[in-house]
Amino acid sequence: MSQPLLVARNLSKTYRNRGLGGTGAPVHAVRNVSLEIGRGSVLALAGQSGSGKSTVARLLLALEPPDTGTVLFDGIPLNDVSGARLRRLRRRFQAVFQDPYASLNPRLTIRTIVAEPLRAAGNLSSGVLTQRVGELLELAGLPARFMAKRPGSLSGGERQRVAIARALATRPDLLILDEPLSALDVSIQAQILNLLLHLREELGLAMLFISHDLALVRLIAGKTAVMYEGAVVEQGPTATLLTAPMHPYTQTLLGESTPAQTGRAGQLASGVPWPEGSCPFAPSCPFAAAACTKEPPLEELAPDHLVACWFPPGVKAARTGATRS
Ligand code: ADP
Repeated sequence: MSQPLLVARNLSKTYRNRGLGGTGAPVHAVRNVSLEIGRGSVLALAGQSGSGKSTVARLLLALEPPDTGTVLFDGIPLNDVSGARLRRLRRRFQAVFQDPYASLNPRLTIRTIVAEPLRAAGNLSSGVLTQRVGELLELAGLPARFMAKRPGSLSGGERQRVAIARALATRPDLLILDEPLSALDVSIQAQILNLLLHLREELGLAMLFISHDLALVRLIAGKTAVMYEGAVVEQGPTATLLTAPMHPYTQTLLGESTPAQTGRAGQLASGVPWPEGSCPFAPSCPFAAAACTKEPPLEELAPDHLVACWFPPGVKAARTGATRS
């Protein structure tokens, strides 16, 4: 079997300079995260705001280096490449962000915006550029006449289509989409999601689809990883995760159990202080026990289904090393 397109191993990232003067406590934004994305497949990264999803995206995109851990793109360690080689490699993985208002320069025409990665990649004549931009817009579901427009005259959905067209310009193998639908109306979300599904089929694109919305994740991702306080707490086939979640946090996200502290599903107390080395979900967990003062490792508890919990509710046998009292 060929190697996965992207492999992230044991990524960690701590920010130390928070607050004025950098005196704030360190923030462990990403803690020992490992992920794989197969060629042409879609992995979702779910979890509430602040759980570390965007930081993982930045590490995978090599926009900043991890403190520890490695990212292999098609077998190439991103830590080891820089300069022109990294720029060339970057053409193969592109990003689309949440806010198409912020990510498109309002002064430029759509033609210039979409052509920018093509210009950077090679010496193309103006005629070829125009033709290629037209093709890319069409691929993203926009008519070629949009080339002459500027972002200010487009709707949110149209802008996100432009951002997607630009991301496709270098014919990438992987799109990293960070909350690509969150800024859009629900009806427009469905249209852009359909576009992504179409691109996955048409181009065999692999995707990392970051979303706090499990209803959207269900529609696009074969596999899902759920993050909580910087760590992946559950990972597996999306269908399994959404119909038979094992981690109490995933169950809470799906509204199946109620967090102990806040009493309302979906109202998790993110940022509740938790003693280092303990399970970060324990302060909010209805099933917390004495063993949870030790952080459970992510382990395969069923085929292809990884869970970081000592006492996954509904799972009969407690894990080795877990004692309730
Ligand atoms: P998510 O994408 O899931 O909302 P983020 O990755 O944006 O989560 O953030 C994870 C944690 O790291 C948060 O506590 C956030 O405040 C912190 N964080 C993210 N980026 C920075 C940064 N550049 N400097 C300091 N803290 C950061």
